Amino acid sequence: MFLTRRVDHAHLRAVITHLAFIVTLHTSTFVACISAASAGTLESSNNFIVLVADDAEPDFAQQVLDRAEEYRQNIAVEWLGDALPPSVGRTIVNVKLAAETDKGLTWAIDDPRRTHHAVYLTTSSENALGTTLQHEIAHVVLATQYPHPNRLPPWLEEGIASRYDDDESQVTRDQILSWASRSGNWPDLLRVLESSTISTNDQLSYAVASSLVDYLLTQREKKRLLSFAASGRRTGWDRAVQQNYEFTSVVQLQSAWQAWVTEQHALALAQRIR
Ligand SMILES: [Zn+2]
Repeated sequence: MFLTRRVDHAHLRAVITHLAFIVTLHTSTFVACISAASAGTLESSNNFIVLVADDAEPDFAQQVLDRAEEYRQNIAVEWLGDALPPSVGRTIVNVKLAAETDKGLTWAIDDPRRTHHAVYLTTSSENALGTTLQHEIAHVVLATQYPHPNRLPPWLEEGIASRYDDDESQVTRDQILSWASRSGNWPDLLRVLESSTISTNDQLSYAVASSLVDYLLTQREKKRLLSFAASGRRTGWDRAVQQNYEFTSVVQLQSAWQAWVTEQHALALAQRIR
């Protein structure tokens, strides 16, 4: 059962001020985001507090909350084998509707003084209920299961979260890898495995992360992929790849992955011109 409530603006501001306190603000950007939501609707459950700016239909915060709960449940079952228990990894979801924009950001708990993850969505109502929300909830689920300072490496979080993206994003990534395959300009896997961040504009790294996750799932199951990624930073990627897959090194993984990508694109091309 979910605890939900609708509040007037004065009460909402008080609640937001309280939230601002419990999240322990570190940046003025975050303050700006919180105040931007100060005239809108708020709904909450054990797992989420959803704040929606005032240009949405009255029950929109509730719709976002329901979808967030559904994605949290489904993604945890899909990747971890079971739902997360209630109230772990509580998350504040800030939604600002903008028809022409599609941006999502998850600021996972990265300090013991913070009690909530924070998600920021600036997007259409369709994406705030769909792919953009789902992508960010994938980060929330993974950052809850593998919390700071033991977060999964960015390539794996993005590789998993990207599986929930819209078709347009998937087509862009296919185009990038198709070009790499045809031109021989392959990105260096080790660089992506070792990256401490992936910029939202770095579509090449998103394409590699997403494709590498797809490829590794053709080799072994999801649980193995998660332990490979979790151990890579501790033991080094060559050792992790030897222990979890039948490759002797990242260099050998790179060759096998490139051959697989090339074959996938040749198959797709053959189907298109059939
Ligand atoms: Zn992401």
